[in-house]
Amino acid sequence: MKLNDPTLLHTETYIDGQWVGADGGEAFDVVNPADGAVVGSVPDLGVGETRRAIDSANRALPEWRALTAKKRASALKKWHTLLMENVEDIAQIMSLEMGKPIRESRGEAVFGSNFVEWFAEEGKRAYGEIIPTHDVSKRLLVVRQPIGVVGAITPWNFPLAMITRKVAPALAAGCTVVVKPAEDSPLTALAAADLADRAGLPAGVLNIITTSNPEPVGQEISTNPIIRKISFTGSTEVGKHLMANAAGTVKNVSLELGGNAPFIVFDDADMDAAVQGAIASKYRNSGQTCICANRIYVQAGIYDEFAKKFAEAVSSLKVGAAVDDATEIGPLVNQDALEKVETLVTDALEKGAGVLTGGKRHALGKTYYEVTVLTNVTSDMRVASEEIFGPVAPLYRFETEDEAIALANDTTYGLASYFYAGDLGRIWRVSEGLEYGMIGINTGLISTELHPFGGVKESGIGREGSHHGLSEFLETKYLCMGGI
Ligand code: NAP
Repeated sequence: MKLNDPTLLHTETYIDGQWVGADGGEAFDVVNPADGAVVGSVPDLGVGETRRAIDSANRALPEWRALTAKKRASALKKWHTLLMENVEDIAQIMSLEMGKPIRESRGEAVFGSNFVEWFAEEGKRAYGEIIPTHDVSKRLLVVRQPIGVVGAITPWNFPLAMITRKVAPALAAGCTVVVKPAEDSPLTALAAADLADRAGLPAGVLNIITTSNPEPVGQEISTNPIIRKISFTGSTEVGKHLMANAAGTVKNVSLELGGNAPFIVFDDADMDAAVQGAIASKYRNSGQTCICANRIYVQAGIYDEFAKKFAEAVSSLKVGAAVDDATEIGPLVNQDALEKVETLVTDALEKGAGVLTGGKRHALGKTYYEVTVLTNVTSDMRVASEEIFGPVAPLYRFETEDEAIALANDTTYGLASYFYAGDLGRIWRVSEGLEYGMIGINTGLISTELHPFGGVKESGIGREGSHHGLSEFLETKYLCMGGI
């Protein structure tokens, strides 16, 4: 790997302000999903090291939370500047360890950094309240204070942004954090921690637990009484498990879980814009995002024309190595991911779906899958209820607005949804009818640091980004002052 600053590639992890290995020297390899080549090696930590990281975050807490928000902001702003100065290196590391096309990795490096800048500012605005009193001898106030030590567990599909979207608001609020990044993408997390260290974060404020054993480490993080808050992004299955663990000590939880995003194209939509929007939403990160369009519903009267235009546009997407500048679709993250996509497509074909383009493993081999469009997909196929997490777009047909809303809501998930329509009345009715935390209206791209990101139903609890994201790390304390 060619980096401008090779020292950003770490073989040790960051705990209590020190770069350390596992107690017994254990390590695991990080591999490039495209060719299986070893990209790096990181310490394989267990419960003992996790406990020490939690203790160090606890020791760092009193001084960190006692700083003014402006002082904390100053460290976060330095971190943001360093992240932005190292966008290219972060992008290279990210693409090599998890296969994101390099152009998108550069985008994520900036997107991830944006959360640090935003929360550096927003931390200064953790305002309290003064409540008009019910008794002239009393004054009623509300202050907001950091929750305490936070345990953050993050996925591989956004190796930087899913960390900064938690760590930045937590630190801005005055919390300290222990992060367990995904085992497929620990190198980006360590590069980010290195830059935080260079920015002057005090020892113990941020700690990284690299491990190939998520269960015992996750168990420790979600049951250790020092941890007051779990912030998790990942699958609904693991989220439920952590939530159950956290119940034992009644920890506050924020969960950003799976999605099954509907993308609805009504007959009054701008067809070409809808085609572009569907591509942007479906194929970002090679189809591996929680807000990727998972079900594309097209109104019957325009179905054939949409399918033709969409399949044509999709067939020209360039599949290739993640680090190649021209690549639009990279390899999937690992063999399991490839096999899951393959199984879902086989199931759909067996139940009567057709293939407009793609439909099988890519000639490039390894974890590459062809950019695929399936037609005549129906609700009984597994693609309708499971996250595809690959470059496969299933097209469904519907007749009426009410039917589209009912079909879209017919899932246990409720993260992102999208629709394209022209009529203003319809835009309101559909927006109000969709049971989702986020709705893209005439757009397939919705994510920034500025808005509340999160889901309803089994897609999660809580919001990240925006001022709502800061609140997730603050407790509300009521002060009742008598004798006045
Ligand atoms: P995952 O398997 O749930 O893993 C997420 C994180 O949890 C990883 O760090 C993983 O470690 C860890 N983990 C796994 N088993 C655990 C356990 N028993 N206890 C504690 N931690 C455990 O999900 P993923 O496959 O990495 O990510 C894809 C999922 O994330 C999809 O469902 C996607 O929709 C969701 N996602 C949601 C959002 C959102 O904002 N809502 C954003 C991105 C992704 P290992 O890496 O070691 O397995």
